[in-house]
Amino acid sequence: MDFKTIIGLEIHVELMTETKMFCSCKNEFGAEANKNVCPVCLGLPGALPIINKRALEYAVKAGIAMNCKINSYSSMDRKSYFYPDLVKGYQISQDDIPLCEGGYLSIETEQGQKKVSLVRIHIEEDTGKSLHTDKDETLLDFNRSGVPLIEIVSNPDMNSGKEARSFLEKLKATLKYIGVSDCKIEEGSLRCDVNINVENTVTHEKTSISEIKNIGSFRGVERAIEYEERRHIDILKENKKINKETRKWDELNQKTVLMREKISTNNYRFAPDGDLPPLNISNEFIEEIRRNMPESVDEKIERFMRDYNMSRKDAVIFSQDIDLADYYENLTDRVKDSSLSLNWLLGEVLRRLNEEGKTVSDIPFRVEDLAHLILIIKDGKINNNAGKKVLKEMFISSKKADEIISELGLLQVSDEGFIREVVDKVLSSNPQSIEDYKNGKDRAFGFLVGQCMKEMKGKGNPKLINDLLKDRLK
Ligand code: ZN
Ligand code: MN
Repeated sequence: MDFKTIIGLEIHVELMTETKMFCSCKNEFGAEANKNVCPVCLGLPGALPIINKRALEYAVKAGIAMNCKINSYSSMDRKSYFYPDLVKGYQISQDDIPLCEGGYLSIETEQGQKKVSLVRIHIEEDTGKSLHTDKDETLLDFNRSGVPLIEIVSNPDMNSGKEARSFLEKLKATLKYIGVSDCKIEEGSLRCDVNINVENTVTHEKTSISEIKNIGSFRGVERAIEYEERRHIDILKENKKINKETRKWDELNQKTVLMREKISTNNYRFAPDGDLPPLNISNEFIEEIRRNMPESVDEKIERFMRDYNMSRKDAVIFSQDIDLADYYENLTDRVKDSSLSLNWLLGEVLRRLNEEGKTVSDIPFRVEDLAHLILIIKDGKINNNAGKKVLKEMFISSKKADEIISELGLLQVSDEGFIREVVDKVLSSNPQSIEDYKNGKDRAFGFLVGQCMKEMKGKGNPKLINDLLKDRLK
């Protein structure tokens, strides 16, 4: 039997506006509970919402960045349901006509690039937050109530947990490039629901769709999908039937747990919001935003491959994090050697940051300090291995490269007179190696270089040692 996994994602992203979607309350994360509230976002009777133009601009930006069609006419609708953190008993959202339609993001897969198409992107407001205490109380915080959101709905174009994860990574990079959201899944400014089912490709039998909620990390999304994939395949193999289900990801036990079965579809009683007129967006407004779009992720990948001779794989790694990409360009500008700065940044620096779960912004020294170190190595003042030692030290102490080099005595010895003395000493105590060298044994030469280096405690200039040895052996 062969199986095909079918995955669609629904992603909510909070926009980084100064104020909320329909009122002038501050939009900030982590403020004291119920500090940023007013009659509008508390849903008090008679309060009137007014749309935030900046939020609209950000949503259009996101739509353009994801290749969507921007609708010049769209409407605001009320989505009614009951939940304690939904103050008005309805959420202002978009139903029939969303702000953005279609579009796609291209992702990297093992088989090459793949386009994941989008159904739509619409704007809506966030709800408040419920906090359940261990005393069985529920506390409500309405700071988040009315924070602007975009909801991005993909088509079921993804076929593995890996693909879903690369889609999320591309989406995050794209939105961070245009500065509309910080997309922190850990803080809830990006939230992802997964729709998944599996098809038997021989009989074309399919399982019912499961929706997975409450996934707190991109890795969690990947794992939850892989878990569900196995579960759905078992269901097909055992010829069982399941209903549509809503499940949640249990990070601790690495499995999904049933929340509820979806026996009937939710009736949200969508209706136009009488307080908000339809949105008429002028072409000028859209074109003005389009003109001012910064370089896209895909454009950066192409440019890095072209200008810095980078492999696609490396270009994708750099482009995924705009701060890292900027850091690389800044470093290369100073070092004037794109592959040398790539090797140091990708190898030593990034490896260390990944190990510690940190990002470029956590690097404890300035970019010019790293450039200086690379230039010292390039000039042959210290060798590569010594360079790695210095870098390691720069990460723990706040000392500069030069200081560390002199403290650790790593300076490469290039004094010709001194090296000549060492060469003579090594030659006079290894007559057999000289004999071997004369008889054409190359290994003997390598051995002699090694002896000189040892004599100089690893700090000798390898090129000079080579030259002077050859000279003497003639
Ligand atoms: Zn408010
Ligand atoms: Mn929504």
